[in-house]
This record gives sequence, structure tokens and C-alpha cells, in this order.
Amino acid sequence: MPGAQARIGGRSKAWYGVTLRLSEQVRADWPAPIAARLPRLYERTERRLADWKGAALDEPTCPADVALAGLPSLTGQPFRIVPTAAFWHAGPSGPVWRAFSPIDEIDHPEVTIIEGRRVVEVEAARGDGLEVVSLDEVTGEPLRTTAHTVVLAAGTLETTRIFAQSMDRLGGVRAPAWPGLASKIKQGVLTRPAPWMLERYRSGDLAYLVAEHPQDNANLFLELRDDATGRPYVDLWWFAEQSATERATVTFTAEGAIWAGTVACEFGAVDRQLAAERAQLANRLLAEWGCQPADLGRDPHPGKASAQAVFDREAVHYRNPIGLSDHESGTIPLGEHLDDTGMSRTVEGLYVAGPAAFPRAGAANPSLTILALARLLAETISAPASRRAPHTPALSSFRSADERHQGSTHR
Ligand SMILES: Cc1cc2nc3c(=O)[nH]c(=O)nc-3n(C[C@H](O)[C@H](O)[C@H](O)COP(=O)(O)OP(=O)(O)OC[C@H]3O[C@@H](n4cnc5c(N)ncnc54)[C@H](O)[C@@H]3O)c2cc1C
Repeated sequence: MPGAQARIGGRSKAWYGVTLRLSEQVRADWPAPIAARLPRLYERTERRLADWKGAALDEPTCPADVALAGLPSLTGQPFRIVPTAAFWHAGPSGPVWRAFSPIDEIDHPEVTIIEGRRVVEVEAARGDGLEVVSLDEVTGEPLRTTAHTVVLAAGTLETTRIFAQSMDRLGGVRAPAWPGLASKIKQGVLTRPAPWMLERYRSGDLAYLVAEHPQDNANLFLELRDDATGRPYVDLWWFAEQSATERATVTFTAEGAIWAGTVACEFGAVDRQLAAERAQLANRLLAEWGCQPADLGRDPHPGKASAQAVFDREAVHYRNPIGLSDHESGTIPLGEHLDDTGMSRTVEGLYVAGPAAFPRAGAANPSLTILALARLLAETISAPASRRAPHTPALSSFRSADERHQGSTHR
């Protein structure tokens, strides 16, 4: 769990605050009861984020935002200001931001945050309920915490490991392979702005716009900002969903105290072809705007940082390696291992939150949907038990910690 993922608050301490909704086309592939509730959940979540920001999520931050909004993109969709749950302001070396983090809002006498522990698995408690086993990250000392409701929200890969390991222990379900791991495909072109773009641009600004292309399951972002030397540049970049046929599988060893996992992911032929087409579209648009397009005869640079290192006058094309965009999802989809509330179909009281539970991720950045689903989950588990849907099937294969420790081989 390196870097941003390992701290309290996770990647919400490092994200850019982009809050886009999943397209209707993608939501149609979600279980119908949840898809039907998403629009209302989005509205409420967006209102909450706008209250936190003290402004509309798509409030302009600079004159270039206004000048570029409404500009047609490729198939007629206009660019609009990117909705963000974030503040952007000028810093000594370019714009800096502060984005919303739910962890900043937790201030309740009944909430205790335990730091420096890694959750290993969930077991059955003596008697009734669940027991979360965690280890002190320095001493390895175990702690057992009992609860009737446990929500796993440890990032897609670690949530998958804890869930897989816990299902093995609790539900007698050994599943070493978890398919459906979806990544995002990010690619773009760095170039210099056309003179008309600069007319309403001031040094230190950041214009940030998006044109959604739901039919291609890809969003096109337009950034106009300064580079490290203070010269403005354009970054026209796509964020697309990895194709369904090319997703990866997480495979666990299914042995030891903490299962080791492996992800083998590759850029498949379908996504290569789509990426090539998207690069051409971006180039065509840049040419229409009077910006220099990139030479697509060369291999793309492996990421924006690498492209920036060589970018000066010549436009440069880049594409992130697959699996690096930090937007992984889809291994424990709602409706399969989980019911429509996010609860395990096998273990009562064990829930999964976060993008691991997305039935399909689409092109949109995930956090708005993560927050919307978290709201739904919070409502579900805080509802009086009498109003909750009955849990089926019953826990026939549920083993208590005592049984396991006595060497039960029930599986
Ligand atoms: C630089 C950057 C920019 C981004 N920008 C955007 C954006 O603009 N818009 C957007 O929608 N998304 C963005 N994302 C992606 C977004 O941040 C992630 O998709 C989202 O935070 C994932 O949420 P999560 O809860 O699944 O995991 P995380 O945010 O990674 O949180 C997981 C938490 O679980 C804890 N944890 C992990 N394992 C264990 C364990 N075994 N025991 C106990 N605790 C554990 C971690 O410490 C962490 O606190 C960005 C990501 C990055 C890195």
C-alpha cells in the first residue's frame, strides 16, 4: 500500500476533485434497482459537495474557463467546465488544489479511528456477529474487533483480498481468481495554445474543461495552463473505460496469513485500436483550433510526465500504461457476490464499498459514484433492522472462529 493509498483518508487526500456522473449508457448495465436510485443519489451528493465548496461544482475559476466553455468538441458535444469538489488557486510553481475528503468530516463521539493497523480478514465472532482481525503494522500484534456490520473499503485490490480471504474463512467459498478488474485508459496530446486561446488567458490560470462522449465511453478533457517554465500549454486528453474483453483478473495464492495477489494486465488489441482512433480525433480537433497536432507515427510517450520532459515546441502524444491510472474497479460487482445493498450474499453483515463494487465503471472518474453509493450504504445499514430486506441465503456454511481454531474443515 504505497503512498497516497496507505494513509488515513486514502487517495481522497490526493485526488483532483473531478466529480462526473456515469453516463446513462453505463448505468443501464448496473442492476436496475441501484441504477434507478443513482440520479437522486448524485443530486444529493453534488449538493453536499457544493455546500462544502461554497460554490457550484462547475464555477469558473478563470476567464479562459468562460472563453472555452461551449466550444464544440468532436461529435458536437460542447466542452463544459469540469465539475470539481476542489478549490484551485495559484501557488509558487503553478496552480495548487485542495479537494474534498470525507475523512475531514468525521467528527462524531461514536467514531473512533484506529491508525497503524492492517485489516487481515473478517472471521465469525464467538456467539453472534463478525470479528475483524487486524495487525499492528510495526509489531504485528493482532487485534480482534467485533461488530454486526463490517464495511470493507480498502481500495479495490486490498478490498478484494480481504473479501476473498474472508469468504474462504467465513463462507466456505474458496475463490482465488477475481476477474473483471477494470482500469482507465488515459492518453493525450501536449501542444501550445493558438493565439485566440491566449487572448483570455492570464499566467497562473488553469482552464479545465470536459466534453463527454458517452457513445464512445470516453471523456475528452481540455486543460490550458502554464508549464514549469511559465509558458502556457494545452493538454487535450482522453479518459476512457478499458474494454470489457480486455480486463484483468486478480489471482490470490489462497495460503498464508495474508494472501498474496497477482494482477496480470495488458493493453489489448481492441483498446490499442480505440486509443489510436482517439489520438487521431484529438489531433483533428487541435488542427481545427489552430494548434499544432502531434506526430502519431511515433510510439506515444508512456505518460504525461515523460511527454512533458521532451515537450517544447513540437506537440507530443502520450498514453499511460494500463493499470497505472489509479482508478481500478470492478472485482466484486454489486449484483454478483453482493446483493443490491452491497452486502455479501453469503455472509450477513459483511459489506463492500468503493469502486471494487462497481458493476461497470464507464469513463467517468469514480469518486462521485463512490460517494453516492456510500450514502446509499450508510442509509441501508443505519435503517432499523425491521425495514431492511431479509438476507438470503441463510448462513448455513458460516463457521465460527472457535470452529476454525479447532481445525474444522467445513468447506
Ligand atoms: C493523484 C490522483 C488523482 C485522482 N483524481 C481523481 C479525480 O479527480 N476524480 C475522481 O473521481 N477520482 C480521482 N482519483 C481516483 C480516486 O482517488 C480513487 O478512485 C478513490 O480514492 C478510490 O477510493 P477507495 O476508497 O477505493 O480507495 P482509497 O482512496 O485508496 O482508500 C483506501 C483506504 O483504505 C486503507 N486501507 C487499505 N488497505 C487496508 C487494510 N488492509 N487495513 C486497513 N486499512 C486499509 C488505506 O489506508 C486507505 O485509507 C485520483 C487518484 C489519484 C491517485
